[in-house]
Amino acid sequence: MSAPDRITPPFPDLVPTVEWQVAGHCNYDCSYCIQSPKTRVGQPDEATLAAIVRGFARLPGVWEIKISGGEPFAARLFLELAVPLLMAETPHRISVLTNFSAPLKSLDRFTQLTADRLRITSASLHLETVAPAEFLDKAVAYRALRARYNPHSSFVVNSVLTPGTLRGLFAVRDQVEAAGFRWFPQLMKVKGGVHPYDVDERVLLERLTRRSHDPREVNRAPSYEGLHCEAGAWYVVVDQRGEAHACRTAKRFQAPSLGNLVDGTFALRTHGGICPYPICPCTVPPNRGIVRLGSRPAPICEDAPASAMLSERADGR
Ligand code: SF4
Ligand code: SF4
Repeated sequence: MSAPDRITPPFPDLVPTVEWQVAGHCNYDCSYCIQSPKTRVGQPDEATLAAIVRGFARLPGVWEIKISGGEPFAARLFLELAVPLLMAETPHRISVLTNFSAPLKSLDRFTQLTADRLRITSASLHLETVAPAEFLDKAVAYRALRARYNPHSSFVVNSVLTPGTLRGLFAVRDQVEAAGFRWFPQLMKVKGGVHPYDVDERVLLERLTRRSHDPREVNRAPSYEGLHCEAGAWYVVVDQRGEAHACRTAKRFQAPSLGNLVDGTFALRTHGGICPYPICPCTVPPNRGIVRLGSRPAPICEDAPASAMLSERADGR
């Protein structure tokens, strides 16, 4: 990796962020998962994990390492090696995107390991696999753990707005919010971009999202094409092999990668540029100040052309 020559981001609200897709494997098999079971596989070995973390240690300044997968907690070496190495060898903060299937014992260990460096736990509620009451019981127990070990961290419950389930999601939203948690709806992504909801579904969808287009409240997978974005310079997506990409869409569109953290070819870009893509499927870039929303009003997801042949996962990983 090239030697970093700057530590301070170009904008005061920009949070330098890595999304680390630590493993491909997931222990769930959601029908709406945009990744096929064939590609939802793979676990890094110890040497690969260690090399990737060494790469993270060379990033300039303090970054947020947002760990996703696959399912991070289903990765064999996640708690045993990946998290301890991140804590021991880097100064970075840690967030996690999980299907929240891990036993409480594992979550307990995670909260203790990450301590005051845990930032956000994004827990996806997959109703095909788990009942809301069971999920929320665990979330309440996890809240107590965080209050003890990570009092400054936050927690959000993701829900994919799957067609055919929208009417039932009002009660789920109410349950989640009554338990004191933030409910974060996400439009369902398909290979052409966003699922083409019919008219009735759109009415329900707008009520469920409270008509919000704020990326802090709903993931509509909009287009930020034409806006200035620091992806590649202050935001990187790293896969289980250490291959680094400027963002998820760049990876999906097979744009040239930023190199590999394992073989030492990784290099950050020196500066951002104009977003050339018709969809931004994840809310990390807008919510961490990576894409500069003030450049012009962002069009909404429905503007994403069907030609945007993405294979991003439905829960935003
Ligand atoms: S949607 Fe998420 S939890 Fe479900 S199978 Fe895909 S990666 Fe796993
Ligand atoms: S706005 Fe989103 S899709 Fe566009 S370059 Fe930035 S991260 Fe990638």
